[in-house]
Amino acid sequence: MSGVCAYIGLGSNLDTPIAQVERALAALAMLPESRLVVASSLYRSDPLGPAGQPDYINAVAELHTRLAPLDLLDALQAQELAQRRVRLEHWGPRTLDLDLLLYGAMRIDLPRLQVPHPQMLRRNFVLLPLVEIAPGLQLPDGSPIHRHLAVLGEGGIQRL
Ligand code: ATP
Ligand code: CA
Ligand code: CA
Repeated sequence: MSGVCAYIGLGSNLDTPIAQVERALAALAMLPESRLVVASSLYRSDPLGPAGQPDYINAVAELHTRLAPLDLLDALQAQELAQRRVRLEHWGPRTLDLDLLLYGAMRIDLPRLQVPHPQMLRRNFVLLPLVEIAPGLQLPDGSPIHRHLAVLGEGGIQRL
């Protein structure tokens, strides 16, 4: 399977988060026209957003896919639903969050889909697993992701 190299960010902080992330990785491995190339370690991170939430489990996966970006987003959202994600409050706790971080070097700015993911450069719980699996990766603007991680530092995250 060739196609485009896409990176998916996974997160969960409800209902046995480690099992949720592992189940989502298994689902990514089953996506049509796609191959799961590698998944990062799991990381435990401090919650973002409303206080008093459980810690998050985060990971990043590399997928080679022939799915178009919106078809890939559909598949990610279908898996969120399959794992019974209920959207209660913005950035509130959730059983599964799947974000399309990068889709090759493409930039996308649609109402439903912005790529690179607009928040990824502010989140070390995204960049740390991404650098683990793709240390030489660059953003569409040519900037190396490890440099963005160096700016944020590695506080608040624990590799499991
Ligand atoms: P954040 O975007 O800050 O990580 P979130 O993941 O909690 O927040 P969601 O409620 O999961 O936000 O998603 C809100 C909407 O974001 C989705 O309905 C989706 O259409 C849109 N969206 C835009 N760009 C992306 C992307 N790159 N990956 C996933 N969803 C995206
Ligand atoms: Ca998210
Ligand atoms: Ca999301």
